[in-house]
Amino acid sequence: MDRTSNLKRLIYVSAQSPRTVADLDFTVGEIIMSSIRRNRETGLTGLLLTYQGFFIQVLEGAETAVGHTYGRILNDPRHCETAVISAERVTARGFSDWNMCARSLSASDAAILDVLDVREALDPRKLTPRSAMRLLTTIADIQRRTSLAALVG
Ligand code: FAD
Repeated sequence: MDRTSNLKRLIYVSAQSPRTVADLDFTVGEIIMSSIRRNRETGLTGLLLTYQGFFIQVLEGAETAVGHTYGRILNDPRHCETAVISAERVTARGFSDWNMCARSLSASDAAILDVLDVREALDPRKLTPRSAMRLLTTIADIQRRTSLAALVG
């Protein structure tokens, strides 16, 4: 059960390092493997998006857990130029389904985002708190539907 007064949501953007770009799938796989375990232990949930050489990640959980994890993420050589898009207290999680889920933004996703009028803002460096949240929740919805379709399909 979350203590709602202590719940924080952090969204940041970062540039993938050249080595990460060179082997993105493998590196994201490594990040996910260690993040799932650690985030489960610390009660963090979130979504990691890869898009055109950038990471966009949302992390939710207790303020101290978000702070400690983001401290480690900041020092990780697999990316650089990390910039916080938003850091706010929230009363409920928006990404409670996953303690870590990664998604790469594909051409078909971009078509959906175009309809939602998000794509014009999709220079990751120019995302506002609102457009970043809209982007991440849209991807999360797609992810949920895909998982559901796989279960019933
Ligand atoms: P150790 O595993 O002891 O590693 C020591 C150092 O090496 C750390 O600086 C680490 O960042 C770095 N390192 C580890 N593996 C590699 C590698 N394969 N190649 C290069 N350097 C490496 N961690 C979470 O717990 N939760 C998250 O949600 C999360 N999200 C992430 C998102 C991104 C975009 C990135 C790049 C990393 C993320 N990580 C996340 C991983 C995090 O940065 C740490 O690597 C991890 O938490 C382990 O921390 P540690 O200090 O115990 O490092």
